[in-house]
Amino acid sequence: METTSNERIHCLIIGSGPAGYTAAIYAARANLKPVLYQGLQPGGQLTITTEVENYPGYADGVQGPDMMVHFEKQAVRMGADIRFGLATKVDFSSQPFKVQIDEEKWIEADAVIISTGASARWLGLESEQRLNGYGVSACAVCDGFFFRNKEVAIVGAGDTAAEEALYLSKLCSTVHMFIRRDEMRASKVMQERVLNAPNIKVYWNKDTDEILGEKHVEAVRIKDTKSGETQTIPISGFFVAIGHQPNSDIFKGVIDMDEAGYIKTIPGTSKTNIEGVFASGDVQDKIYRQAVTAAGSGCMAALDAERYLSAKGIH
Ligand code: NAP
Repeated sequence: METTSNERIHCLIIGSGPAGYTAAIYAARANLKPVLYQGLQPGGQLTITTEVENYPGYADGVQGPDMMVHFEKQAVRMGADIRFGLATKVDFSSQPFKVQIDEEKWIEADAVIISTGASARWLGLESEQRLNGYGVSACAVCDGFFFRNKEVAIVGAGDTAAEEALYLSKLCSTVHMFIRRDEMRASKVMQERVLNAPNIKVYWNKDTDEILGEKHVEAVRIKDTKSGETQTIPISGFFVAIGHQPNSDIFKGVIDMDEAGYIKTIPGTSKTNIEGVFASGDVQDKIYRQAVTAAGSGCMAALDAERYLSAKGIH
């Protein structure tokens, strides 16, 4: 691989969600002079949500995009070098590590923190995109609260959909759950809980045809996968829970990951199988996926990187 370096740094952070920015804040305060590349979606998944009410410290809640501006400002104030650019290739075969940015420039770094996050899978409907943040959400824990005592719908049939449907059932009057086959993929125990919840109404063999509403979600039209018959159900919120995709493609074959592409870290640390490369946030977490847990793991990654560089005598 041709990897002529254009720059040499101590600590490179890839990704700009809560994990990346928190890593940048800690690394900057430890004088690692971190450089953070923001990726395609500066601020990450929180920039496509509306109000965040469960991040501690914001007593009155905060808009997701505003919160990410605060994260960035704090990282800049601590001295982190925040740059727009996408990591497109990596070479971790020898020290220093090499990361290509925007398919052009190569950066050499003594330590790398991967915080590239995950992306929710979407159905791909125009209405889903248009009403995102206006009743359409991919996170029940983040947004369920806004639909207290209202009717909502959820699509998906895995453990996440089951978990989110149950979460919503404790807040909302009715949860309409659309399953595209005649069985659920979720674990038996989760299926039983869903089927026994009095206010979760399960619809089998149903595809989502369209989410209806001008400015916010008002109803959903579903289609029977066998008969083609359609049905319109009035709802206020529509939750998509058809899985997440960790943003780990450029690390495939380079770093140990599970079958779904989540980077493996040594439990209780941010260490990957490559010494000096750390992972934090949703790219290595398929269970919690919260802004606050991502931020916490970004802090861990910066502390692990600082200790690693210090033990190597580099810092
Ligand atoms: P998942 O297991 O991949 O399930 C995705 C679900 O979405 C499937 O049921 C799939 O239907 C459905 N789906 C996909 N595309 C769809 C579409 N276009 N329209 C309608 N439905 C669609 O994803 P997940 O539920 O996020 O779970 C990911 C992993 O994390 C799993 O291994 C899961 O067990 C694990 N997890 C564990 C826990 C826990 O242990 N507490 C909690 C959450 C997740 P089909 O079944 O028809 O393909």
